[in-house]
Amino acid sequence: MNFGLVLSAILSGWIGGGLVNWAADILPRIRDRQEKPAVESATRSLAHHWTLPWYFFRRGICPHCHERLGRRSPTVEIVSIGLFVLMAVHWGATPTLAIAWLYGLFLLAVTVIDFEHHRVLNIMLAPAAIVVAGLSLLPGVPQPLDMLLGGAVGFGVFLLLAIIGRGALGMGDVKLVGVIGMMVGYPGVLTALAVGAILGAVGALVLLASRRATRKTAIAYAPYLAAGAMITLWTLGG
Ligand SMILES: [Zn+2]
Repeated sequence: MNFGLVLSAILSGWIGGGLVNWAADILPRIRDRQEKPAVESATRSLAHHWTLPWYFFRRGICPHCHERLGRRSPTVEIVSIGLFVLMAVHWGATPTLAIAWLYGLFLLAVTVIDFEHHRVLNIMLAPAAIVVAGLSLLPGVPQPLDMLLGGAVGFGVFLLLAIIGRGALGMGDVKLVGVIGMMVGYPGVLTALAVGAILGAVGALVLLASRRATRKTAIAYAPYLAAGAMITLWTLGG
């Protein structure tokens, strides 16, 4: 195993995790004009989003705002580093690795934002669709036709479910599955949807059994869909 690659995975994973924290803090608020001061103050310092050193050296106190940091930021950074290292071991130094890192960060950000705001943001989906379409020209990922077919199948299946379910599924979820389908292509999209559905069903049962949800509670699907996509990512490349 390549020591240098693992080291760059740790570093890139940490940088990526901070980017996810930044995205989760800033992007959901970007349209609310009233929250502009909060957006500006959070944009001012990198230290607020790349938090791991403050857990080691300052007992979780942010050097930027002097507040005790929440648990989400370091969790995201650690998960991201772990994900990057696993992916580096799986793919080695290939184009697929770089793309899988990027897609992994996107899915991580979608998951965090959906947990915290129950929304899948258009401001993330539209650029993601454009980037995925461009990257399909590179080797090691679904090629343009598979990419388009995957996106169409994912979007189509979920649009149908949304129409049948009359509001049980948001359009954000439908568009997210479209982007996921583009990422993993066809037939990968079928695996991603199946895994996402199984995880979603297990998650719903756990929530019902622990009485943290009733049958009428809206369930956040995006994290399950993202998890299904994340698992399917591992089948990409050669
Ligand atoms: Zn701070």
